[in-house]
Amino acid sequence: MEKGIGIAGIGGRMGRLLVEEVAAAGAKLVGGIDRPGVAAPAGVVLFADIAALAAACDVVLEFTHASTAIPHARVLAAAGTAWVLGTTGLAPADEAAVAEAAKSTVVVHAANFSPGVNLVLALAERMGAALPAEQYDAEIMEMHHRQKVDAPSGTAVAMGRAVAKGRGVNLEELTESGRDGHTGARRTGVIGFAAMRGGQVVGEHTLLFAGATEHIALTHRAFDRRAYASGAVRAALWTEGRKPGLYSMMDVLGMG
Ligand code: NAD
Repeated sequence: MEKGIGIAGIGGRMGRLLVEEVAAAGAKLVGGIDRPGVAAPAGVVLFADIAALAAACDVVLEFTHASTAIPHARVLAAAGTAWVLGTTGLAPADEAAVAEAAKSTVVVHAANFSPGVNLVLALAERMGAALPAEQYDAEIMEMHHRQKVDAPSGTAVAMGRAVAKGRGVNLEELTESGRDGHTGARRTGVIGFAAMRGGQVVGEHTLLFAGATEHIALTHRAFDRRAYASGAVRAALWTEGRKPGLYSMMDVLGMG
């Protein structure tokens, strides 16, 4: 890598860990950006904005807020700088902007950069294909720390998408999230989501297939955000020499 790695959201929980993981990987950190007034880790170069950062590095690692997706997509596409995007809570218009940027530059977009979760996603798709919706109700439960701002988590949605893909259906038409009050009986084929928030839980997800005669559950627990940060740095190094396109962590792990 000629110039090195930049980090958007460098003062955040993930941003600070990424600074350490870039160093641990022996890669070069160019610097980062954050919102005005947010302190950056000591010794890190802060750039004025995403355009200045994009011009100075080969790849931007971003873990910020969904509101940045559209403006950052335009800037990174114009600069031809690779983009490893981990921010969750993206609306369909944000996702469309990310896909548009991937026509001009390398984009790795993942709701979860941990290798273990990506293996769970691969298994979720196979389970969705093998366990018919008429016989097995798919429910996804997740718990995260009290500061998390979006629900259900991006990883929970990705698990739902994987089950839907395995079943050959569209998650958007079958999501049942945040049940409360007199909801009526469960509709056959929906994929249910339940989110809990509290304490400092890094990330817990369980995918349950509930049948009349058996239950099958797949659980992933992350104890340390470093699982995401080291995976994201691995993705950043993987972008070198790739053709423009929209890639996933599965592609980085060779499971795509
Ligand atoms: P955080 O709030 O600790 O950090 C976010 C940082 O982004 C903050 O420092 C904030 O000031 C900064 N920021 C916000 N808007 C900005 C802007 N316009 N320009 C520059 N900086 C800006 O949050 P976090 O726990 O680090 O998580 C950040 C995001 O990453 C969330 O969406 C979270 O869900 C997601 N996340 C994804 C993964 C994954 O593996 N994909 C893992 C953990 C967290």
